[in-house]
Amino acid sequence: MMERILTDVQFANPEMSVTLLRYFNPIGAHESGLIGENPKGIPNNLMPYIMKVATGELSELGVFGNDYDTPDGTGVRDYIHVVDLAKGHVLAIEKYNTPGVHICNLGTGKGYSVLDIVHAFERVNGIKIPYVIKPRRAGDIATCYADPTRAKVQLGWVAEKNLDDMCRDTWNFA
Ligand code: UDP
Repeated sequence: MMERILTDVQFANPEMSVTLLRYFNPIGAHESGLIGENPKGIPNNLMPYIMKVATGELSELGVFGNDYDTPDGTGVRDYIHVVDLAKGHVLAIEKYNTPGVHICNLGTGKGYSVLDIVHAFERVNGIKIPYVIKPRRAGDIATCYADPTRAKVQLGWVAEKNLDDMCRDTWNFA
């Protein structure tokens, strides 16, 4: 909806430069531990939920479905470190500085399952994350990951941080 509004605004004002960055699943925190995400109440997203299980605020993670058509049956997403995402924005501001609508995916191009994330978090941080399998969540799809080719070609951007960095920086911030 926001993309349609912004595209209409640009159409009505052809001198404008509008950029639509398509985020995938941003997680992690700045490596300093000074900037991160600490949602109020019970988180809806996977990594904040895992963080609150790790701190003991929540007792266990509910994994929403293990019967998807994916390698381990749990949902696959393209998790991207927030600092990579921030760098993509800086480049987009610099490079898409011409009239028009510019559209670009910001993702890694790699998919990880819910259980991949749980196991990586446990291994990197040495903390057990208890979980139970729950029914599928309404509206979820099995797999979603980016084709980041355009970001590489047009912005000279590729995600540099890996899943271990994302898990370590999340816990460092917690
Ligand atoms: N998920 C889960 N338990 C949770 C939160 C999320 O199993 O408590 C799963 C969700 O079903 C999806 C993945 O983790 O497969 C990422 O969900 P999130 O809400 O973080 O992002 P989305 O891709 O839905 O925007």
